[in-house]
Amino acid sequence: MAEMNGKYVNEQTHQKGKKFFKKAALIAGLIALTLIIAGIIVIVNGVNKPVPDMLQDGWFEAESDRNQAIFSGAALIGVALIPGVIAISMLVVAHQREILAFGASTVAPVAGETINYLADETSPAIEKVVGAVSSGVAEGVVKAKSATGANQNNNVKYCQECGTKNPKSAKFCSNCGKKFE
Ligand SMILES: [Zn+2]
Repeated sequence: MAEMNGKYVNEQTHQKGKKFFKKAALIAGLIALTLIIAGIIVIVNGVNKPVPDMLQDGWFEAESDRNQAIFSGAALIGVALIPGVIAISMLVVAHQREILAFGASTVAPVAGETINYLADETSPAIEKVVGAVSSGVAEGVVKAKSATGANQNNNVKYCQECGTKNPKSAKFCSNCGKKFE
């Protein structure tokens, strides 16, 4: 099934359309070719006209004729661009299925490989980041707990003078003898 204008068309319609666009491309191509050949002939004729002698009467008119022929030929070739572009467009339309199929066969494996590559390369990196963040958070929670005293043993106290751990009931530091307040 080929898609055309949002509607699915059957194989017969597709082949008919293909034939039509191929024919249109052939006609437009022949018109373009004819215009190009005519243009070349006109230019060659113009160039081959004798260069007028400036000392003779009527040289200006002769020179104008010669230039006009060359410009006309160039114009014909320029006009040939229109049927030329039409011919190419019609060929593209006629062969859209082949072009799309070729495009898909070229792009799909590349896209697949790219996605696999990205997935392979990023998952460990993302795991590392997540791991770092979670361990950082865990460490931060432990620090925050000890800072607020939540993780401290309530049965001990530390000497302000030497930092020695003493029982909470102690009246003096067991190390330096400083009196607790
Ligand atoms: Zn002490």
